[in-house]
Amino acid sequence: MKSESNLETVLCDGQFAVTAELGPPMGADGNAVRKKAGILRGSADAINITDCQTAVVRLSSIASAAILIQEGLEPVMQMTVRDRNRLAIQSDILGAAALGIKNCLCLAGDHQSFGAAGKLKGHPGAKNVFDIDSIQLEAILKKMRDEGLQEGGDPLDVPPKLFIGAAWTPMQEPIDFSVVRLGKKVAAGADFIQTQGVYDVDRFAEVMASVRERGFHERTAILAGIIVPRNAAMLRYMNSSVAGVTVPESLIARFPSVKKDATAEEKKEARIKSEEIGKKIAVELIQGVRQIEGVRGVHIQAIEWEVAVPEIVKAAGLLPRPTPVPVGPPR
Ligand SMILES: Cc1cc2nc3c(=O)[nH]c(=O)nc-3n(C[C@H](O)[C@H](O)[C@H](O)COP(=O)(O)OP(=O)(O)OC[C@H]3O[C@@H](n4cnc5c(N)ncnc54)[C@H](O)[C@@H]3O)c2cc1C
Repeated sequence: MKSESNLETVLCDGQFAVTAELGPPMGADGNAVRKKAGILRGSADAINITDCQTAVVRLSSIASAAILIQEGLEPVMQMTVRDRNRLAIQSDILGAAALGIKNCLCLAGDHQSFGAAGKLKGHPGAKNVFDIDSIQLEAILKKMRDEGLQEGGDPLDVPPKLFIGAAWTPMQEPIDFSVVRLGKKVAAGADFIQTQGVYDVDRFAEVMASVRERGFHERTAILAGIIVPRNAAMLRYMNSSVAGVTVPESLIARFPSVKKDATAEEKKEARIKSEEIGKKIAVELIQGVRQIEGVRGVHIQAIEWEVAVPEIVKAAGLLPRPTPVPVGPPR
């Protein structure tokens, strides 16, 4: 094995893997991470820690991942190339490995302009680094791990043991290009893939057929992204504004509509009903993608709603999870 992480072990054992996303707080409260980690304990084989998602400053993914390890849980540290050059990234990777972090998801990162949304101001004027792209980051991590070399060629006395991941947006048009892009990520060294949210299982199955034709599913472990819908407005936003995400109208129509002049009580009722429907849809999506050859797990993202995950995992028949391998800094 490359990293001996729990996620790698579960996949190597041929089990259907479950990962879940944990969004760190917009502040220095490590207990917020501990609380969410406690909610997810036992429901996932590894927990993804986002890296300033939507380009908003949050408690760092490295520190959050280290807190998870203190709690006895396995993190997937997410790292974007938006905010760091190759020097900073390699240094952070060595630090992360020394803290016991074994899984890293390599990402481009949301554009910094995304941060200015709703009530948030974000940092739309921030300089984006993009010294390297997400595929080059994977290749650098692979070189560090397999050859014990830094990107520039200098040796590492102790190489980091890493399970290397990449994100993939399967339904980003043109689909042929999307599959080619997956191939590039696999060739660069992606041991596992976590996809953008899938709402159209039939369409995803067609893309996966194309993936199987090229044999990519045999060279990497593909975990289908399940973004738990909370209401119709969220799905409409995902459909219109998130690149590569299409939501069938039939899914949106399952949620109750709320009249503009609805009372507080009616709004509350609609919210509770919507959340139940959202969890049910997530379970159906998991069961749908699980039938597709080449899908080796699911990555569940219940955005700022981690409390929904245990119920979904249970209802999808994915419990109990395999006994996890112990976490901790290498000795
Ligand atoms: C599972 C997951 C987790 C994420 N976590 C974070 C996070 O923690 N922090 C954060 O800031 N962002 C996060 N993102 C957002 C993500 O980094 C951006 O959406 C990014 O634009 C696309 O994913 P990538 O990182 O793999 O980019 P890459 O594959 O490196 O793509 C880079 C750029 O190329 C474009 N591109 C890719 N394929 C195509 C295509 N077929 N046609 C045209 N253009 C294309 C993309 O839109 C993107 O702008 C996450 C996304 C996913 C799916």
